[in-house]
Amino acid sequence: MGIEEKLPAGILLTSVEKLVNWSRKSSFWGATFGLACCAIEMMAAGGPHYDMGRWGMEVFRASPRQADLMIVAGRVSQKMAPVLRQIYDQMAEPRWVLSMGVCASSGGMFNNYAIVQGVDHIVPVDMYLPGCPPRPEMLIDAILKLREKIMHEPLGPNGRKMLEARKERGDVP
Ligand code: SF4
Repeated sequence: MGIEEKLPAGILLTSVEKLVNWSRKSSFWGATFGLACCAIEMMAAGGPHYDMGRWGMEVFRASPRQADLMIVAGRVSQKMAPVLRQIYDQMAEPRWVLSMGVCASSGGMFNNYAIVQGVDHIVPVDMYLPGCPPRPEMLIDAILKLREKIMHEPLGPNGRKMLEARKERGDVP
């Protein structure tokens, strides 16, 4: 009798999922992607005072090929939007997007033709962080919340869709 038959249904897959998600959330590789004033706070968060190495993300990567977390720090201009999308497309799966600050999330006070009214028009956003600018502590809090979310993410290409379905059923917070 194989081990799969001895164990209750799904227990092996669930454990593998938890292990993989634990390793993913414990080693974020942030893409260097500062766009405006919010980026100053993001850089401060990356300094020794806040010690992001405690959560396995002490380095930001200059190459999207080596990054799995895009922190959109600041307003997104219409001219920058295709570049942002290209960088996102160059990041390998699994990848996550954190929209930092009111400008990135909704255009903020820049309600005009030059600024994208929310980066979710360009890329899917996994976590929104309010504030103008959000302090480094707030960014760290958003990253920790994203880590919690990742722990519930099913494996595979449809992981995000399945997570939404699990949420609707009330299986995850
Ligand atoms: Fe600058 Fe505030 Fe907009 Fe951030 S939210 S980019 S700090 S104006």
